Amino acid sequence: MQPVSVEAPLKIRQQESRALEQACAGNKEGSKLGKATRDHYMRLDAVIASSMAATKTQVDCQRGCDYCCYYKVSASANEIFLISTWMQTRLPAERVESILVAARENAARIAHMTTAQHLSSNIQCPLLVDGACSIYDVRPAMCRKHHSLNVALCKQSYEHPEDISIPNPEEPQVGMRALAAIAGAREGIERAGLDAGLYDLSTALLETFTDNKPEKRWRKGKKAFSKAAAVS
Ligand code: SF4
Repeated sequence: MQPVSVEAPLKIRQQESRALEQACAGNKEGSKLGKATRDHYMRLDAVIASSMAATKTQVDCQRGCDYCCYYKVSASANEIFLISTWMQTRLPAERVESILVAARENAARIAHMTTAQHLSSNIQCPLLVDGACSIYDVRPAMCRKHHSLNVALCKQSYEHPEDISIPNPEEPQVGMRALAAIAGAREGIERAGLDAGLYDLSTALLETFTDNKPEKRWRKGKKAFSKAAAVS
């Protein structure tokens, strides 16, 4: 069998940076910016798949396993707008409402937490419903990146979220290439003059639904969400 060839992380980062800069620069229409994010996800998924093939990675992840959906979940503004559009066009109104109730509860808790407290608090992602991601096709880049070679480590992290000595369960080569693509995308968005900062998913999602200005601000090159939503 032919060995699978994979790009070096630096090349992946540069390619992704160029792709997002070209797709976003001077193009502030919501639908085109949404497509730029979806195209980034397709390339990111391909990077992850080829890296897994090259390293012969066998993941322990299975449908219904959701330990990783209790981590601190962050996403950039373009990702949050894509999720919001998906929710409004694909999910029933009552499902959207229950997600926003969960996001509101999370946002209220997180507002009083330090980053360290948040990291060790096992707050359930508001989009996790009945053990599955409600927006799986448009889940954020960091969720796409996550994979585990050992579910026992995920369980251990879930049971002891404060224990930072528990090893990362990912295949390092896969994680490194995925991170290179994600960093490149944020770099390209920033070069296009748009906010590429990370936001707490619950808080920013709530702001998207309760205020019609985040996306307008973002398209003008301003910070999309409030300081309370920003991830330090
Ligand atoms: S967005 Fe989906 S995959 Fe990511 S943490 Fe939330 S429920 Fe899990």
